[in-house]
Amino acid sequence: MSLDTEFERVSLPLANAFTISRGTQETADNVIVKITDEGGMTGIGGAAPSAHYGETADTVEAVLPDLLDVVEEVGDPHALTTIEERMRHTVARNPAARCAVSIALHDLAAKRTGLPLYRMWGLDPDETPTSSFTIGLDTTEKIREKTADAVDAGYSTLKVKLGTDRDREIIGAIREEAPEATLRVDANEAWTPRETVDNSRWLAEHGVEFIEQPVPAEDPEGLKFAYERSELPIAADESCVTLADIPEIADRCDIANLKLMKCGGLLEAKRMVHAARAEGLEVMLGCMIESNASIAAGVHLGPLLDYADLDGSLLLESDPYDGVDLTDGEMRLAELGLPGTGVRTE
Ligand SMILES: [Mg+2]
Repeated sequence: MSLDTEFERVSLPLANAFTISRGTQETADNVIVKITDEGGMTGIGGAAPSAHYGETADTVEAVLPDLLDVVEEVGDPHALTTIEERMRHTVARNPAARCAVSIALHDLAAKRTGLPLYRMWGLDPDETPTSSFTIGLDTTEKIREKTADAVDAGYSTLKVKLGTDRDREIIGAIREEAPEATLRVDANEAWTPRETVDNSRWLAEHGVEFIEQPVPAEDPEGLKFAYERSELPIAADESCVTLADIPEIADRCDIANLKLMKCGGLLEAKRMVHAARAEGLEVMLGCMIESNASIAAGVHLGPLLDYADLDGSLLLESDPYDGVDLTDGEMRLAELGLPGTGVRTE
Protein backbone atom coordinates (compact mmCIF):
# COMPACT_ATOMS: atom_id res chain seq x y z
CA MET A 1 0.00 0.00 0.00
CA SER A 2 1.15 3.53 -0.57
CA LEU A 3 -0.24 6.89 0.45
CA ASP A 4 0.25 10.34 -1.06
CA THR A 5 0.08 13.36 1.21
CA GLU A 6 -0.21 17.11 0.77
CA PHE A 7 -1.17 20.18 2.80
CA GLU A 8 -2.16 23.80 2.24
CA ARG A 9 -2.89 26.82 4.40
CA VAL A 10 -6.28 28.51 4.18
CA SER A 11 -7.06 31.91 5.65
CA LEU A 12 -10.69 32.01 6.77
CA PRO A 13 -12.37 35.38 7.44
CA LEU A 14 -14.80 35.36 10.37
CA ALA A 15 -18.41 36.48 10.02
CA ASN A 16 -17.84 38.84 12.99
CA ALA A 17 -14.62 39.73 14.79
CA PHE A 18 -14.43 37.20 17.66
CA THR A 19 -13.53 38.58 21.07
CA ILE A 20 -12.93 36.72 24.32
CA SER A 21 -11.39 37.92 27.58
CA ARG A 22 -7.86 37.42 26.15
CA GLY A 23 -8.24 39.25 22.81
CA THR A 24 -9.84 39.56 19.37
CA GLN A 25 -9.38 37.73 16.08
CA GLU A 26 -10.79 38.51 12.63
CA THR A 27 -9.47 35.60 10.58
CA ALA A 28 -8.56 32.00 11.37
CA ASP A 29 -5.61 30.37 9.62
CA ASN A 30 -6.24 26.63 9.24
CA VAL A 31 -3.98 24.11 7.50
CA ILE A 32 -5.71 21.42 5.43
CA VAL A 33 -4.15 17.95 5.10
CA LYS A 34 -5.09 15.52 2.33
CA ILE A 35 -4.08 11.85 2.27
CA THR A 36 -4.78 9.85 -0.88
CA ASP A 37 -4.62 6.07 -1.32
CA GLU A 38 -3.50 4.24 -4.46
CA GLY A 39 -7.11 4.03 -5.66
CA GLY A 40 -7.43 7.82 -5.66
CA MET A 41 -9.62 8.04 -2.55
CA THR A 42 -8.77 11.10 -0.40
CA GLY A 43 -9.16 11.74 3.32
CA ILE A 44 -9.29 15.37 4.47
CA GLY A 45 -8.37 16.85 7.84
CA GLY A 46 -7.73 20.31 9.22
CA ALA A 47 -5.49 21.93 11.80
CA ALA A 48 -6.81 24.99 13.64
CA PRO A 49 -3.73 26.05 15.62
CA SER A 50 -4.17 28.08 18.80
CA ALA A 51 -1.51 30.54 19.90
CA HIS A 52 -2.67 29.99 23.48
CA TYR A 53 -1.29 26.46 23.20
CA GLY A 54 1.85 27.57 21.34
CA GLU A 55 0.83 26.79 17.78
CA THR A 56 0.44 28.90 14.64
CA ALA A 57 -0.11 28.02 10.98
CA ASP A 58 3.67 28.45 10.61
CA THR A 59 4.48 25.86 13.29
CA VAL A 60 1.89 23.47 11.81
CA GLU A 61 3.46 23.81 8.36
CA ALA A 62 6.93 23.35 9.88
CA VAL A 63 6.16 19.96 11.45
CA LEU A 64 3.72 18.49 8.92
CA PRO A 65 6.45 17.15 6.59
CA ASP A 66 7.82 14.98 9.45
CA LEU A 67 4.32 13.82 10.43
CA LEU A 68 3.38 13.00 6.85
CA ASP A 69 6.63 11.05 6.48
CA VAL A 70 5.31 8.79 9.26
CA VAL A 71 2.06 8.32 7.31
CA GLU A 72 3.90 7.47 4.11
CA GLU A 73 6.31 5.09 5.89
CA VAL A 74 3.49 3.16 7.58
CA GLY A 75 1.51 3.37 4.35
CA ASP A 76 -1.73 1.89 5.77
CA PRO A 77 -4.63 4.30 6.49
CA HIS A 78 -6.23 1.70 8.80
CA ALA A 79 -3.13 1.63 11.06
CA LEU A 80 -4.61 4.49 13.07
CA THR A 81 -3.19 3.58 16.49
CA THR A 82 0.29 2.99 15.10
CA ILE A 83 0.36 6.25 13.18
CA GLU A 84 -1.03 8.40 16.04
CA GLU A 85 1.51 6.84 18.42
CA ARG A 86 4.44 7.29 16.05
CA MET A 87 3.40 10.89 15.32
CA ARG A 88 3.40 11.64 19.04
CA HIS A 89 6.93 10.27 19.35
CA THR A 90 8.01 12.25 16.26
CA VAL A 91 6.54 15.59 17.40
CA ALA A 92 5.63 15.62 21.07
CA ARG A 93 3.87 18.99 21.01
CA ASN A 94 2.06 20.54 18.03
CA PRO A 95 -1.28 18.79 18.74
CA ALA A 96 -3.23 20.66 16.02
CA ALA A 97 -0.75 19.50 13.37
CA ARG A 98 -1.00 15.88 14.55
CA CYS A 99 -4.76 16.19 14.76
CA ALA A 100 -5.12 17.27 11.12
CA VAL A 101 -3.31 14.09 10.08
CA SER A 102 -5.38 11.93 12.46
CA ILE A 103 -8.61 13.37 11.06
CA ALA A 104 -7.55 12.91 7.42
CA LEU A 105 -6.60 9.28 8.15
CA HIS A 106 -9.90 8.57 9.93
CA ASP A 107 -11.80 10.14 7.02
CA LEU A 108 -9.89 7.99 4.54
CA ALA A 109 -10.17 4.78 6.60
CA ALA A 110 -13.93 5.21 6.98
CA LYS A 111 -14.37 6.10 3.30
CA ARG A 112 -12.49 2.92 2.35
CA THR A 113 -14.90 0.86 4.47
CA GLY A 114 -17.86 2.73 2.95
CA LEU A 115 -19.14 3.83 6.36
CA PRO A 116 -19.65 7.20 8.06
CA LEU A 117 -17.03 7.51 10.81
CA TYR A 118 -19.59 7.18 13.64
CA ARG A 119 -20.68 3.83 12.14
CA MET A 120 -17.09 2.64 11.84
CA TRP A 121 -16.87 3.41 15.59
CA GLY A 122 -20.23 1.72 16.31
CA LEU A 123 -21.86 4.83 17.81
CA ASP A 124 -25.59 5.66 17.93
CA PRO A 125 -26.25 8.78 15.81
CA ASP A 126 -29.41 9.60 17.76
CA GLU A 127 -27.50 10.02 21.05
CA THR A 128 -25.96 13.42 20.33
CA PRO A 129 -26.30 16.58 22.43
CA THR A 130 -27.21 19.90 20.81
CA SER A 131 -24.21 22.08 19.99
CA SER A 132 -24.08 25.56 21.45
CA PHE A 133 -23.51 28.70 19.39
CA THR A 134 -21.05 31.19 20.87
CA ILE A 135 -21.78 34.85 21.50
CA GLY A 136 -18.40 36.62 21.72
CA LEU A 137 -17.69 39.82 23.61
CA ASP A 138 -18.88 43.06 22.01
CA THR A 139 -20.80 46.21 22.83
CA THR A 140 -24.02 45.36 24.65
CA GLU A 141 -26.04 46.63 21.67
CA LYS A 142 -24.11 44.35 19.28
CA ILE A 143 -24.48 41.42 21.70
CA ARG A 144 -28.26 41.97 21.66
CA GLU A 145 -28.24 41.88 17.85
CA LYS A 146 -26.08 38.74 17.69
CA THR A 147 -28.30 37.02 20.25
CA ALA A 148 -31.49 37.92 18.39
CA ASP A 149 -29.92 36.63 15.15
CA ALA A 150 -28.88 33.37 16.85
CA VAL A 151 -32.39 32.84 18.23
CA ASP A 152 -33.86 33.57 14.77
CA ALA A 153 -31.43 31.02 13.27
CA GLY A 154 -32.88 28.40 15.64
CA TYR A 155 -30.04 27.96 18.14
CA SER A 156 -31.49 26.75 21.43
CA THR A 157 -28.18 26.70 23.35
CA LEU A 158 -25.91 29.74 23.57
CA LYS A 159 -22.41 29.92 25.04
CA VAL A 160 -21.68 33.42 26.29
CA LYS A 161 -18.16 34.77 26.60
CA LEU A 162 -17.67 36.73 29.83
CA GLY A 163 -14.73 38.14 31.79
CA THR A 164 -15.43 41.88 31.52
CA ASP A 165 -16.40 44.59 33.99
CA ARG A 166 -19.98 44.42 32.63
CA ASP A 167 -20.70 40.70 32.80
CA ARG A 168 -24.03 41.20 34.55
CA GLU A 169 -25.20 43.67 31.91
CA ILE A 170 -24.25 41.19 29.14
CA ILE A 171 -26.13 38.29 30.72
CA GLY A 172 -29.14 40.53 31.43
CA ALA A 173 -29.26 41.67 27.79
CA ILE A 174 -28.88 38.12 26.44
CA ARG A 175 -31.57 36.79 28.77
CA GLU A 176 -33.97 39.47 27.50
CA GLU A 177 -33.28 38.54 23.87
CA ALA A 178 -33.25 34.77 24.50
CA PRO A 179 -35.59 34.04 27.43
CA GLU A 180 -35.98 30.36 26.52
CA ALA A 181 -32.38 29.53 25.52
CA THR A 182 -30.05 27.27 27.46
CA LEU A 183 -27.18 29.57 28.47
CA ARG A 184 -23.62 28.61 29.40
CA VAL A 185 -20.84 31.06 30.17
CA ASP A 186 -17.09 30.96 29.52
CA ALA A 187 -14.86 33.42 31.39
CA ASN A 188 -11.64 32.18 29.73
CA GLU A 189 -9.66 32.39 33.01
CA ALA A 190 -10.64 36.02 33.73
CA TRP A 191 -12.15 35.66 37.22
CA THR A 192 -10.66 35.08 40.64
CA PRO A 193 -11.89 32.06 42.60
CA ARG A 194 -13.89 34.35 44.92
CA GLU A 195 -15.45 36.24 41.96
CA THR A 196 -16.43 32.89 40.48
CA VAL A 197 -18.33 31.91 43.60
CA ASP A 198 -20.06 35.32 43.79
CA ASN A 199 -20.87 35.31 40.05
CA SER A 200 -22.24 31.78 40.24
CA ARG A 201 -25.08 33.07 42.44
CA TRP A 202 -26.49 35.63 40.02
CA LEU A 203 -25.73 33.41 37.02
CA ALA A 204 -27.80 30.68 38.68
CA GLU A 205 -30.65 33.19 39.08
CA HIS A 206 -30.50 33.78 35.30
CA GLY A 207 -30.85 30.04 34.70
CA VAL A 208 -27.28 29.56 33.45
CA GLU A 209 -26.34 25.88 33.02
CA PHE A 210 -22.62 25.91 33.88
CA ILE A 211 -19.48 28.07 34.08
CA GLU A 212 -16.51 27.25 31.86
CA GLN A 213 -12.91 27.91 32.95
CA PRO A 214 -13.54 30.77 35.38
CA VAL A 215 -9.97 30.95 36.76
CA PRO A 216 -6.48 30.64 35.24
CA ALA A 217 -5.26 27.14 34.45
CA GLU A 218 -2.12 28.01 36.43
CA ASP A 219 -4.26 28.14 39.58
CA PRO A 220 -5.49 24.57 40.19
CA GLU A 221 -6.20 25.34 43.86
CA GLY A 222 -8.34 28.29 42.75
CA LEU A 223 -10.28 25.98 40.45
CA LYS A 224 -10.87 23.62 43.36
CA PHE A 225 -11.99 26.52 45.58
CA ALA A 226 -14.50 27.62 42.92
CA TYR A 227 -15.71 24.07 42.23
CA GLU A 228 -16.36 23.36 45.90
CA ARG A 229 -18.35 26.58 46.49
CA SER A 230 -19.98 27.46 43.14
CA GLU A 231 -23.76 27.36 42.78
CA LEU A 232 -23.25 26.06 39.24
CA PRO A 233 -21.26 23.19 37.71
CA ILE A 234 -17.74 24.08 36.57
CA ALA A 235 -16.23 23.00 33.23
CA ALA A 236 -12.46 22.87 32.70
CA ASP A 237 -11.14 23.94 29.29
CA GLU A 238 -7.71 25.60 29.53
CA SER A 239 -7.09 23.32 32.57
CA CYS A 240 -7.90 20.21 30.49
CA VAL A 241 -5.51 19.85 27.56
CA THR A 242 -4.29 16.26 27.29
CA LEU A 243 -5.12 12.82 28.70
CA ALA A 244 -2.71 13.38 31.61
CA ASP A 245 -4.82 16.35 32.78
CA ILE A 246 -7.96 14.27 33.38
CA PRO A 247 -6.92 12.82 36.78
CA GLU A 248 -5.56 16.29 37.73
CA ILE A 249 -8.93 18.01 37.23
CA ALA A 250 -11.09 15.15 38.52
CA ASP A 251 -11.69 16.71 41.95
CA ARG A 252 -11.64 20.31 40.66
CA CYS A 253 -14.53 20.45 38.18
CA ASP A 254 -17.70 18.73 36.98
CA ILE A 255 -17.13 18.74 33.22
CA ALA A 256 -14.04 18.05 31.09
CA ASN A 257 -14.06 20.21 27.95
CA LEU A 258 -12.00 18.37 25.36
CA LYS A 259 -10.86 19.81 22.04
CA LEU A 260 -9.33 17.88 19.17
CA MET A 261 -6.79 20.66 18.62
CA LYS A 262 -5.59 20.42 22.24
CA CYS A 263 -5.27 16.64 22.50
CA GLY A 264 -3.79 15.89 19.07
CA GLY A 265 -6.02 13.23 17.55
CA LEU A 266 -9.33 11.41 17.42
CA LEU A 267 -8.09 8.28 19.19
CA GLU A 268 -6.59 10.41 21.96
CA ALA A 269 -9.89 12.29 22.26
CA LYS A 270 -11.73 8.99 22.73
CA ARG A 271 -9.23 7.95 25.41
CA MET A 272 -9.90 11.26 27.20
CA VAL A 273 -13.66 10.68 27.05
CA HIS A 274 -13.28 7.28 28.72
CA ALA A 275 -10.77 8.53 31.28
CA ALA A 276 -13.12 11.40 32.18
CA ARG A 277 -16.01 8.95 32.61
CA ALA A 278 -13.87 6.78 34.86
CA GLU A 279 -13.23 9.85 37.04
CA GLY A 280 -16.96 10.63 37.21
CA LEU A 281 -16.71 13.72 35.03
CA GLU A 282 -19.19 14.77 32.38
CA VAL A 283 -17.72 15.35 28.92
CA MET A 284 -17.96 18.27 26.55
CA LEU A 285 -16.29 18.66 23.16
CA GLY A 286 -15.37 22.20 22.17
CA CYS A 287 -13.42 23.57 19.23
CA MET A 288 -11.26 26.41 17.97
CA ILE A 289 -12.38 28.54 15.02
CA GLU A 290 -12.20 25.71 12.54
CA SER A 291 -13.27 24.77 9.08
CA ASN A 292 -15.47 21.73 8.57
CA ALA A 293 -12.28 19.94 7.50
CA SER A 294 -11.88 19.29 11.24
CA ILE A 295 -15.31 20.14 12.74
CA ALA A 296 -16.93 17.38 10.65
CA ALA A 297 -14.79 14.81 12.47
CA GLY A 298 -15.60 16.18 15.92
CA VAL A 299 -19.31 15.78 15.26
CA HIS A 300 -18.83 12.00 14.95
CA LEU A 301 -17.78 11.93 18.63
CA GLY A 302 -21.20 13.43 19.42
CA PRO A 303 -22.77 10.20 20.74
CA LEU A 304 -20.03 10.02 23.43
CA LEU A 305 -20.69 13.55 24.75
CA ASP A 306 -22.86 15.26 27.34
CA TYR A 307 -22.28 18.73 25.88
CA ALA A 308 -21.01 20.05 22.56
CA ASP A 309 -19.69 23.39 21.41
CA LEU A 310 -18.84 22.71 17.78
CA ASP A 311 -19.71 26.05 16.19
CA GLY A 312 -16.23 26.70 14.73
CA SER A 313 -17.35 26.62 11.11
CA LEU A 314 -20.57 28.51 11.88
CA LEU A 315 -18.50 31.52 13.03
CA LEU A 316 -16.81 31.80 9.62
CA GLU A 317 -17.96 34.18 6.91
CA SER A 318 -17.84 31.17 4.60
CA ASP A 319 -16.24 27.74 4.86
CA PRO A 320 -14.59 26.14 1.81
CA TYR A 321 -15.66 22.77 3.25
CA ASP A 322 -19.04 21.27 4.04
CA GLY A 323 -19.44 18.75 6.84
CA VAL A 324 -22.26 17.40 8.98
CA ASP A 325 -25.29 19.71 8.98
CA LEU A 326 -25.26 21.72 12.23
CA THR A 327 -27.90 24.29 11.29
CA ASP A 328 -29.50 25.39 14.61
CA GLY A 329 -26.96 23.28 16.55
CA GLU A 330 -28.59 19.87 16.04
CA MET A 331 -25.99 17.30 14.93
CA ARG A 332 -27.64 15.52 12.05
CA LEU A 333 -25.31 12.52 11.93
CA ALA A 334 -28.02 10.05 10.94
CA GLU A 335 -28.86 12.18 7.90
CA LEU A 336 -25.25 12.38 6.71
CA GLY A 337 -25.45 9.50 4.24
CA LEU A 338 -21.77 9.82 3.26
CA PRO A 339 -18.79 7.65 4.19
CA GLY A 340 -15.94 9.17 6.21
CA THR A 341 -16.43 12.34 8.23
CA GLY A 342 -18.69 13.81 5.54
CA VAL A 343 -16.20 16.55 4.72
CA ARG A 344 -16.38 17.76 1.14
CA THR A 345 -15.69 20.87 -0.89
CA GLU A 346 -18.77 22.97 -1.55
MG1 LIG B 1 -13.46 27.74 26.58
